[in-house]
Formats: sequence, C-alpha cells, structure tokens
Amino acid sequence: MTQQRLYARLILAVLLPLILVTATLWPVLHMHLETRQESIREETRAILQVGESTLLRDINETLSYALAIAEMPIIKAHMTSEDTENTENSTSAQLSSFLSTLVRHYPRYTKLTLIDNQGNEVLSAPTELASDPRFTAKRHASTDYFKAASKLLARDLYISPPGRNLQYELFSGEVIPVVNVATPIFDDQGEREGVVLLSLNWQHLSEAVHQAMHIDPDAGVLLADAQGGWLLTEGSQRLPMISFGDNYARLAAEPWQPVTEQVEGAFTLGNHQLRFQRFDIRSQGYQGLAGRIFSQDDTLPWVLGVSLTMPTWKTLLQDDASVIWFLLLTYSTAVALGIYWSFSSHQQRKLRHQAVLHANEVSKLYDSAPCGYHSLNADGVILKMNQTELDWLNLDRDAIGQRCYLDFVSPASLPDVEAAFQDVKAGQQAEAECTLVADDGQTRHVIIQAVGYRENNRFMYSNATVFDITERKQLEEKLRAQAMTDPLTGVFNRRYLQAQASIEISRASRHDTPISLIAIDIDHFKHINDEYGHDAGDEVLKRFTDVIKGLLRQEDLLCRVGGEEFAILLPSTALDRAQQVAERIRAAVEQAQVSIENADVPTTIYITASFGVTHIERGEKTLKAAIKRADNGLYEAKETGRNRIVISLRSKSS
Ligand code: GH3
Ligand code: MG
Ligand code: MG
Repeated sequence: MTQQRLYARLILAVLLPLILVTATLWPVLHMHLETRQESIREETRAILQVGESTLLRDINETLSYALAIAEMPIIKAHMTSEDTENTENSTSAQLSSFLSTLVRHYPRYTKLTLIDNQGNEVLSAPTELASDPRFTAKRHASTDYFKAASKLLARDLYISPPGRNLQYELFSGEVIPVVNVATPIFDDQGEREGVVLLSLNWQHLSEAVHQAMHIDPDAGVLLADAQGGWLLTEGSQRLPMISFGDNYARLAAEPWQPVTEQVEGAFTLGNHQLRFQRFDIRSQGYQGLAGRIFSQDDTLPWVLGVSLTMPTWKTLLQDDASVIWFLLLTYSTAVALGIYWSFSSHQQRKLRHQAVLHANEVSKLYDSAPCGYHSLNADGVILKMNQTELDWLNLDRDAIGQRCYLDFVSPASLPDVEAAFQDVKAGQQAEAECTLVADDGQTRHVIIQAVGYRENNRFMYSNATVFDITERKQLEEKLRAQAMTDPLTGVFNRRYLQAQASIEISRASRHDTPISLIAIDIDHFKHINDEYGHDAGDEVLKRFTDVIKGLLRQEDLLCRVGGEEFAILLPSTALDRAQQVAERIRAAVEQAQVSIENADVPTTIYITASFGVTHIERGEKTLKAAIKRADNGLYEAKETGRNRIVISLRSKSS
C-alpha cells in the first residue's frame, strides 16, 4: 500500500514539475521565438529596402545621365550640324572620345550612342565598338528604344526591359543583358535632332542589387518582371539553377501566385518568410529632371523580394545550444527536486506513522502499566494519572484536574507524604511509603517515588511512579507472624519469647514493675501419643493452649518453647499473683476434656500439667536465669508427683 503510494508520488513528482516548468517556460520561450521571428521579419523589410534603393539609385542615375547628355550644348550642336562626317571631323572625334571616356569611367554602361532622326548612328562609344567592322550596320531605326524615343517630348525617357544586347554579346563574346535608356535630342529651336541611347549593364546592376541584399548569407533574392521573367543575372538562394530570362512564374508557381495579387506583402512558405514589393520604375523613386518615363507596359511593375529562413522551435534549439542546456538543467532540477520531495515526504509519513504507533504504544504502556503514574501541580491537584492508578483509587477521568491527590492518602501516612511532597516541590526526588484509601474505601499500601520539575526557579509539576506493595506488606506480615508463632497451636514461639522478654524486662526495670515467668509441661504426654496417636497428641496441645489463653490477659505472653512445654511471661505481675495464675491454669487444665472425634472410637482425654513459677529478679537483663529457675521448679513439680506448682526463687535455688 505504502509502496503504491510511493510510486504514485513518484509519478506525480515527475509529471508535476514537467508541467509546471513547461507552463512557466512556454510563454518565455514562445516570446523568445516570436522575437526571433519578428527580427527576421524586420530583417526582410530592411533588406528589401536596401535592394530597392540600390536598384532605383542606379536606374535613376542612368536616366539622369541620359538626359544630361541629350541636353549638352556640344551634343545638340553636333546633332544640328548638316555634315558631321566632313566639316567637323575634329569636333566629332573629340565628342566621340568624350563619350568613350564617360563610358570607360562608368563601367555600368556598356554603350552610349547618338542616333539621328533616321535611326542612323551618329556617334558611339566606346569608339572601339563603333570602328569594329562587324558592326557596320549602325542602324537603330527598327529598335524599340529608337521607335519609342522618336515620339517622345523633350526630357521624356524610354527605358527598355532588361534584355540581351546582341551586338554587344557578339562583340565581347559575353552574354550580358542590358537596359537601354533612350531620350530625344532637341535643338535650341525645339527641332527634333535625334536620340541618345545609353545602355546600362544589367549584370552590373543585378550584382549590385544581389550583393546589397545578400547581407544575410541566408537571404534569397527575387527580382522578376510582371510576367515572371527572372531579372537577376544569377540564381536565387532558393532556386540556384534559375538564370536571367527564365520564367520564374512557372518554375516557382507557389510563391509567385500571392506575389501577383498584392502590391507588397509577406507570407510564409514552408519554413521561409518571403517579403516582396512590386514597383514600377516609371513612376517610383525618380527625383531628377525627367518628364514622363515610358517602357513596355506588360513587363512592369517588377517584383523585388527577399526570403529568409523563419526560426522554428527546432532551429531555435539547434541554433542555441544554451537553450537546450537551460531546459535540460531546469527540467532535471525540477524532476530531481520532485523525486527528492516524494522520497522525503514518504519517509516523513513513515516516521510520522511510526511516531503515532510509538505514541500509542507509550500511551498504552502508560495506562496499563502495573504501577501507577501521576503528575500533580503545586497544590497537589491531579494533572495526569494513568488508568492503573485511576482504577486503584476507583476514579474516572473526570477526576483529573479536579481532585487533590492528598485526599487519597490515609491520615496515618499523610505526614510522611506531605514531607516528601515538600521535597519534590523544592525540585528534589523523594520517596514515601503510605496507604492510599480509594473512594470506595479500599486501601492499598504503596511506595510513591516522585520528582519535581521547576522552571525559572518556580515549581511547575511533579511526576510520580506509584508501586503497589500491598501484597508484599501482607506477605511480610505473614512471614513475621509465622516467624513468631507456633504453627500448631498459634501461640508465640521460643524466639518471640526471648525477643519480647528483653523488651518487657527493660520496660519493667524502667517502670520498676514486677515481671513473672511460668514454665509448664504436660504430664505424661508421651503416653497420650502412644495411646491415642500423634494426631490426638496435637489435638491435646491445641486444646491445652486454648484453655490457657482463656485465662490470660492481653499483655501476657503464652509461648510454646518445646514439644509439650510452654512458658508464660506475665508483665506487671508479682510472683504471688503469678502463682495464682498458675494455679488457675492448673485447675482449668485438670478440668478440661479433650474429645478425639477422628479416632475409631470417640474418646475423651483428661490431662494435667506441672508448673514452675518464678519472677525476674532485679538486675537480670535476660530471661535465661529465670527460665532456668522456672525449669527447676517444674522439675521439682514432676518429681513430687506432677499436676502441681512449685515456686522457684534464686535464693532458694542457689
Ligand atoms: P513427664 O510427665 O515426665 O513430662 O512425661 P512425658 O511423657 O510428658 O514426657 P517426655 O519428655 O518423656 O515425652 C514428651 C513427649 O511429647 C515426647 C514426644 O513424642 C511428644 N511430643 C513432642 N512434641 C509433640 C507434638 O508436637 N505433638 C505430639 N503429638 N507429640 C509431641
Ligand atoms: Mg516434657
Ligand atoms: Mg511432659
């Protein structure tokens, strides 16, 4: 049972801390995760902004640059001159070299070309390209940028979608996409003179954007046109194989769908957060002197996006080993504490249970002890008492706190007990022997051993153990009586005579009173034994003593000193008086009849006795001499015929 309880406690001790710790840590960890996720969201916002500003900055610069060239007086002058080839050859060469220098110093431009109203190339930089025989056909009349720019007003701009510049590719052997920016050239009179074409190296721009947005190595960059055409010259972190011009909308339909539905936003795809923004280079972010900006309508707006891995519980724990250690430590500490608690409380319960059992046992022992226990206050009122002593005093428990213990002490032993109680109150141990008188009058002889307890020099209470010695006392009395009496006749024996004689002699001497002694011997007793049997002899002895007892005073001592020999000590009795007593006894014995009922034939026996009488002389300390004198008298009585009394005195005997 207790084992099962222990198991239940152990399960509780493991589960409860786990639940509590989880309940406590969950919000903290959840907040931690949320914070991490929010910071990723913030990071996507920041990266997106960086990407957009990089892209727009380069495009805007290109637009401003194209406008600036179209408005340069030297360019205008060159375009208005009729015969550029022949008349102003040197100016043309200078201008060409000027444009080439510009292109060389701004490597993000691949080509800067001046085109006349017919679509023929007037000047082109770099000059190497212009002079290359492979590019003899310097006609731009059918190009999108020329067609668009020819119709534009001053300061209007056309910007082509990023695309392959076949001429440049052929020339350089590289596949470099470009963005062609074209703007019309007007002379000071407002006459249309031609078009400026500035080709922007899209790879250069794409790399710049990619690099700017790749500040987090995990960042995946997305740049696509309105149709989903991939605009970056390199792949994405999430789609490494994609290359410029590929159809992102088809390759990555899942992220593409939400991108087309909103201008900007963010959504989670798998474990990634993708933030995107659609923007139109014709209208967004340009702060130069340009008028309207045109492009191919179906390719705009572009979509710029960035994706970052969103932290999850798994990545949170994987990335931050300290969190795992913290969790392990917290959980294991909580579980360890729980287990410790369950074991210690189990142990405590066991101890408590044992203590209760022990207390019960002690209480049982206290109540059923063979001796009495009680505690008294300073007034002797019972504070505690065990059942044994309550039974002795015939009390029930209501008496506790009510009755005074001294009420149960017999008046004879009260002084001893009160004296002992005073010692106890003084903080000492004390012992008293006394007689207790119960409520029902029953007496009990006891020894009380008590000890007092004091605090701050003040008596608090006493504890006492009470031993019932009634039986012992009775036994002692019995033994003492047995030691003093003759078992057959019940009269005193020789030992008692001698002991008592010395007391009586000294008392007589003190009070100067006479004291006499009578020695008695039954006549021919042997004959009775022989004639009627030993039992009859015993009966005679008993009857004989009964007869004598009836004739004596309280203070006279009748003792059996031998088989059929007796002595009587008579305090305060002079010799003549003793003689009278002896005579009375002699006569009574002579008259007495002893009936033997047990004999085959009921018989009556008659007996006589002989007497020696003497008194204790002055100065005699013991009975020895008196006994001897009485024996002498007795002997003489026997000698002279028995059934008689002989007075025996010292003077006479000596
Ligand atoms: P005498 O007249 O000279 O005293 O003669 P006696 O027979 O009385 O004296 P004796 O000393 O010869 O005998 C005493 C007898 O008493 C002997 C003994 O057997 C007997 N006797 C002693 N004690 C007891 C006793 O307790 N019971 C009985 N039945 N007989 C006893
Ligand atoms: Mg005898
Ligand atoms: Mg005799």
